[in-house]
Amino acid sequence: MQIHRLKLSGFKSFVEPAELRIEPGLTGVVGPNGCGKSNLLEAIRWVMGETSAKSMRSGGMEDVIFAGTSTRPPRDFAEVVLHAQDDGGEELVVTRRIERGAGSAYRVNGRDVRAKDVALTFADAATGAHSPALVSQGKIAQVIAAKPTERRAMLEEAAGIAGLHVRRKDAEGK
Ligand code: ATP
Ligand code: MG
Repeated sequence: MQIHRLKLSGFKSFVEPAELRIEPGLTGVVGPNGCGKSNLLEAIRWVMGETSAKSMRSGGMEDVIFAGTSTRPPRDFAEVVLHAQDDGGEELVVTRRIERGAGSAYRVNGRDVRAKDVALTFADAATGAHSPALVSQGKIAQVIAAKPTERRAMLEEAAGIAGLHVRRKDAEGK
């Protein structure tokens, strides 16, 4: 799967709508401290269905919504749209939106879907919020320090079999 476009609005420090093109190959994000590099990577994880507030470096899920500054009022919602092409060349547009007091809503190619459907879509394409293709700050040190079971989970993500575990848990009713 190739992510080629990302649109953010009201997500963390990206208060004004921003659109980024992502070229094929390795992409690095550089810039001064606090400019939003980590926020950008978190936006990709978030739209892929990340449910852990901790990995978003926030207390609660609504904390991803622009909180306002001394000169700007806070926003009521955050939205991230990810455009990707799957390995078969099919276009995939995934939207996640969170509104204060209303939780998250997801859309895939314009259709309302459940968080689980989004997770499966990415897991089947051997990617997702925990994909080793997304290398964030401190990740290398984390791989080195990981316990064997944690390292196994990383390898499973990389091998593209994580989706099978989601389906098994689903089938077992967990
Ligand atoms: P570093 O080089 O230090 O790792 P960075 O480029 O990764 O910096 P980020 O951590 O992505 O920077 O961005 C931090 C900025 O995002 C801070 O200024 C912080 O106030 C802002 N920020 C985070 N969440 C929100 C939010 N909900 N509303 C407004 N601003 C936010
Ligand atoms: Mg950072």
